[in-house]
Amino acid sequence: MTTCQECNCEISIDEKTIKIGDVVVCSACGAEHEIISIDPLELELIEEEK
Ligand SMILES: [Zn+2]
Repeated sequence: MTTCQECNCEISIDEKTIKIGDVVVCSACGAEHEIISIDPLELELIEEEK
């Protein structure tokens, strides 16, 4: 479990199946985060260029 950096809601992540470089999407706001570290779990918000 981690926290969305955009809306601060919780994002559920199965730490057994993720790998560095995977992208997880916040179910609440749709923000995409890239996995940059597994242990400890760290996500980086992907800023969409428009
Ligand atoms: Zn969010």
